[in-house]
Amino acid sequence: MEKRSSLTRLESCGKVSRRKVMAAFCGIGLSGLFATSSAASPSHPLVQPGEPSDAVFIERAFSMKNRAIELGDQAYGAVVVSNGQIIGESWSRVLLDEDPTAHAEMSALRDAAKRSGPGALRGAVLYSSSHPCSMCQAAADWVGIATMIYGGSATNAGPPRSCG
Ligand SMILES: [Zn+2]
Repeated sequence: MEKRSSLTRLESCGKVSRRKVMAAFCGIGLSGLFATSSAASPSHPLVQPGEPSDAVFIERAFSMKNRAIELGDQAYGAVVVSNGQIIGESWSRVLLDEDPTAHAEMSALRDAAKRSGPGALRGAVLYSSSHPCSMCQAAADWVGIATMIYGGSATNAGPPRSCG
């Protein structure tokens, strides 16, 4: 309910809110950040951790979540990791892109595919600040994500479950 009312509130503000969000963000090229999800290109360089671990990748997912909060989007973040390397990451872009499917996990999967090609996702691990919803799990299953790890205690949720 809270998400819905927040979305409705932002939508009712229209372009003004979107401009305020844009003005609040200064770290990344705006044209890349605010392109639609389907057309977005990778918008920022990926920073690899010195020592890969679940804790480090979950911490990165939470930093994505914090970025979502800074930008006024829903408070979720996600990171895709393959062979100990971050290959994609994102905060929720639902409000920024006006795309109800642009959950952090979906956006991180898209980011990884754009950077490395869809094949790079097979066998990768999806780290999320919260337990992935059924839509994101279906997408993760579809692209071959092997394992999902979520939350502050890095809970291993196992492989994603497809809806179909
Ligand atoms: Zn989701």
